[in-house]
Amino acid sequence: MQRVMALSLGELVLKGKNRNTFLQKLIGDIKRTLKGINHGKIYHNMGKVYVEVTEDNEEKLINRLKHVFGIVYIAPSIKVETDEVKIREAIFKCVEETLSVHPEYKTFKADTSRGDKSYPLNSMQINNKIGAIVLKNFDVKVDVHTPDFYVYCDLKKDTYIYTEKIKAYGGLPKGTNGRGLLLLSGGIDSPVAGFLMAKRGVMVDCLHFHSYPFTSERAEEKVKTLAEDISSFSGKLNFYSVNILPIQKEINMNAPEDEMTIISRRFMMRIAHKLAEEKGYDCIITGENLGQVASQTIGGLQVTDAVTDKLVFRPLIGMDKVNIINIATDIGTYETSILPFEDCCTVFLPKHPNLRPTISGIESSEEDLDIDLLVNDAIDKMEVTQIG
Ligand code: ATP
Ligand code: MG
Repeated sequence: MQRVMALSLGELVLKGKNRNTFLQKLIGDIKRTLKGINHGKIYHNMGKVYVEVTEDNEEKLINRLKHVFGIVYIAPSIKVETDEVKIREAIFKCVEETLSVHPEYKTFKADTSRGDKSYPLNSMQINNKIGAIVLKNFDVKVDVHTPDFYVYCDLKKDTYIYTEKIKAYGGLPKGTNGRGLLLLSGGIDSPVAGFLMAKRGVMVDCLHFHSYPFTSERAEEKVKTLAEDISSFSGKLNFYSVNILPIQKEINMNAPEDEMTIISRRFMMRIAHKLAEEKGYDCIITGENLGQVASQTIGGLQVTDAVTDKLVFRPLIGMDKVNIINIATDIGTYETSILPFEDCCTVFLPKHPNLRPTISGIESSEEDLDIDLLVNDAIDKMEVTQIG
């Protein structure tokens, strides 16, 4: 009996021609993610990837595998030859273990998928056999509608028996959808935005603005921790750190007070645009969310967008805060995000921000600013750190 982690791949298997490339990428990601943890062979067979378990470290393996995009379910399984006696033993073992962890389970249902069409019994007949084995050996009943647990049987060249499908994040393997530059603040939203785009296969690097010495080094450390959390899913990343204070001071002196935030936002976007051009990012990503704050009205977003012709992804645009918080909690960024450190945007917060900015209005407010000089200067002084 060999223990394996059976990994279901969801939409990956639908990718037609590209399927093999995706599969190889995914297997590479799995290998990298499991570095330092003992395991056996990694192989694929009929749309699933398998990782052989070689010691009692299943929990560690599962926790790491959850960080690999492209995996939809993780099923800790027992693998045996496709042989009736062996399958029977595997079912006994698997159900015995499940009931020792969940003594409250009273009902089950067998669920067979018969990949090996040459096997003499059909799925229904195999289910009946499994049912008979379980009923004979354990104090549980069949419930085909709402069972407490399933006994899954994947019958292929070898047979895999399992009772648990642990949900992973799905998505697409890392780097299969280009490179994005995430505007990462210390808040709740932008780490979630980065996670969601990384989940779709975008390699994410982070751009953070601080207002040192108005914002502290500890505030910056907090944002780096968030970048580390993102990198635990998406791999090594570059963290660009830009001091926006000189720009904020200029805006403060030369532009209307009620447009401070929106003009700062446009500078952030210009800097992101320039970096994207220089370093070849395919898109910019933000954690903006419609209507959440004054700068995130439709007008505000349009005025921010107007300084770049790069594609700007705002994956949280239509989400409610509670959903965003749920994701942040699930991926482990929430606790860090709510640490009370100052943010560069709050340094010069207008009392009554302009809620209906227009492009032409803001452009004329920016007339006294030397935009190119400010942008270039900020980028020249930028610091870059590798994370992950
Ligand atoms: P978050 O929770 O991500 O901080 P927020 O609700 O506080 O978002 P804003 O502060 O208005 O909203 O920021 C909107 C978006 O602009 C952020 O999600 C982020 O992508 C970007 N942004 C804001 N401040 C910074 C910053 N200091 N550095 C980099 N990006 C920033
Ligand atoms: Mg913020």
